[in-house]
Amino acid sequence: MSPLFVPGPVDVAPEVLAAQAKPMLPHRSKEFETIFHRAEGKVRKLFFTESRVFLGTHSGTGMQETGIRCLVQESVLSCINGAFSQRFYDVATLNGKQADKLEVTWGQAITPDLLADALKKKKYEAVTIVHNETSTGVMNPLKELAAVVHEVSPETLILVDAVSSFSGARIEVDAWGLDFVLSSSQKAMALPPGLSFAATADRALEKAEKVDNRGWYFDLLRLEKHRIKNSTPMTPVVPLIYALDVQTDRIFEEGIEKRFERHAAMAKRMMEWAGEQGMKPFADENHLSMTVSAIENSHGWDIGELNNFLIQRGMRIANGYGVLKGKTYRIAHMGEIQMEDIENLISAIEEFMGS
Ligand code: PLP
Repeated sequence: MSPLFVPGPVDVAPEVLAAQAKPMLPHRSKEFETIFHRAEGKVRKLFFTESRVFLGTHSGTGMQETGIRCLVQESVLSCINGAFSQRFYDVATLNGKQADKLEVTWGQAITPDLLADALKKKKYEAVTIVHNETSTGVMNPLKELAAVVHEVSPETLILVDAVSSFSGARIEVDAWGLDFVLSSSQKAMALPPGLSFAATADRALEKAEKVDNRGWYFDLLRLEKHRIKNSTPMTPVVPLIYALDVQTDRIFEEGIEKRFERHAAMAKRMMEWAGEQGMKPFADENHLSMTVSAIENSHGWDIGELNNFLIQRGMRIANGYGVLKGKTYRIAHMGEIQMEDIENLISAIEEFMGS
């Protein structure tokens, strides 16, 4: 494998890639339903939920749209501290919802106090939070934010985008009282792109019954009607479900706790190294991501040039996102990436520094 240190799509293990090449099964067959049921059960475990996980035949943004369309009739509070939380807000407004912003500077985290203040000022049906802002390397304190919502405004649903953290960092859907937690296949799950997940609580489905214009494709109630029969209303992405079945086994083989520890250790190593080189994290040091490190480009490198150097050595990192291009660079350490890969990357960057 030539390591991709980019925040998705990431490297996929050869046996997981190979699983996709198995002959197709009709999605209304007993054989496929068995695989679907098994895979969904394993994803539930990764979300620490007993309720249900929807498997979407589209990327994570489709699940943002699903959550907004089905769980918000009118008002939503969007916590914004980067590009993907801004997207969640845009999805809300473009679907005709009244979205208010709780916005902090990119690189900062949404704090429980700020959220509490916003919820005391106005009642919202839902709040949207991006757990891991891939654009800035900030990991919002999700457990604490959820606790504040339960305390200040218990009827408000908690909609979480965990696209770049799910399975790389702990998210306990049931224990933390999260209502809708979405993710994508091509990040820490280390699957090809094209599949998304949404852990969904009972109270979210109860709310969906009262929301108008949920549409067809993204209607959670329609999805649930089929999920209980181990299927989907539309044709699912059969090869990716095969891959999911294999990959979840690999994840449990490593052990979910060990997986979290591996991601945390790689994040720590990356930032320690950056510090030794006189480079700071872009993110608030108290809220660093476990899966993607955004580092200030203090030495004024041409990130394109650095990447070309790395590509020749079979590696690739990511430039800063959007307005942060050139000002930061991002190293993803998720999915199949091991500490050994991080050490190799560090050596290669040091070689670039000396060149
Ligand atoms: N949310 C976050 C935090 C992301 O990092 C991304 C993609 O990088 C998205 C949403 C969009 O996900 P997708 O490309 O799977 O639609």
